[in-house]
Amino acid sequence: TITTAFIGLGAMGFPMAAHLARHAQATGGRALVWNRTRERAVAHAAQYGTTAADLQDCAQAEVLFSCLPTSAQVDEVIDHMGAHLRPGTVWVDCTSGHPDSARRQREHLSARGVSFLDAPVSGGTSGAQAGTLTVMVGGPTAEVDSVRTQLAFAGKVIHVGNTGAGFAVKAINNVLLAVNLWAAGEGLAVLGRHGVNVGAALEVINASSGRSNASENLIGQRVLTREFPVTFTLGLLAKDAGIALDVVESVKGSAPVLAQTLGLYRAAAQIIGENEDHSAALQLIERMNAQEIK
Ligand code: NDP
Repeated sequence: TITTAFIGLGAMGFPMAAHLARHAQATGGRALVWNRTRERAVAHAAQYGTTAADLQDCAQAEVLFSCLPTSAQVDEVIDHMGAHLRPGTVWVDCTSGHPDSARRQREHLSARGVSFLDAPVSGGTSGAQAGTLTVMVGGPTAEVDSVRTQLAFAGKVIHVGNTGAGFAVKAINNVLLAVNLWAAGEGLAVLGRHGVNVGAALEVINASSGRSNASENLIGQRVLTREFPVTFTLGLLAKDAGIALDVVESVKGSAPVLAQTLGLYRAAAQIIGENEDHSAALQLIERMNAQEIK
């Protein structure tokens, strides 16, 4: 039987760890959880039958998951666990982290006999609840294959390359989300000023070639309703766009649209607020055009 530990019960981690609990119950294993604010781990244990453990106990798990805001917080947790880590553990980091950090973390942990896989996820909080997340994994094939059956929150697992490749793919995916969301917002704001009914325009776009996940799901449900429910913050999306531009720079690439997009989301995070939902970036477009998107 396998013991897993999940570190970081945030908007994503809380529902992801629930699937590990379900898997543990089905296979006779154990699922430990840890969160900086301990009450959340205690609530998870009460709700799903996991064990709210301390970091020292989590360090003994065979498979260790983390899902924290950035690679910097993962570094902090690795430092805290330090000597308690046991050889043979596989650390599966589901943070949307930085490829340079992944290479450094893998190297650092290998000295303790612990292997590190970058395994960020997409699908949002609804995908985490449903257990249908897409996991993009970077690392050696044998190590990736050794944890596939433990990824109980996944709908799809894709091995995308060596260490850091998972984080690179995730950052580029998310900057594409940022591009699509922003571009659709500009288009709809302009149509609104043109006197077109924005809801009707969105219906056309969603039945036409200009559609995207942002137009099909985000704008109808979050912007036109004026609800902007916070499931994925603007600050985290701006962070992802920054990682994407670091990837561009690391290969001396030319990606001017992505670079503009980073600047726009940094501005939106400053002006609208980093703790607002990412869909609230369109409130900056509304101000730029003196036109509500509704
Ligand atoms: P949240 O802000 O909801 O959760 C962050 C978690 O990290 C909390 O458990 C928080 O603990 C913990 N944390 C923060 N700082 C520290 C620290 N210094 N030491 C230890 N723990 C810390 O974030 P999300 O769940 O939304 O995002 C997590 C990761 O997943 C990010 O990298 C994000 O980009 C990515 N992601 C998010 C998606 C989404 O839709 N939300 C979708 C796909 C990926 P505490 O409770 O104490 O604050």
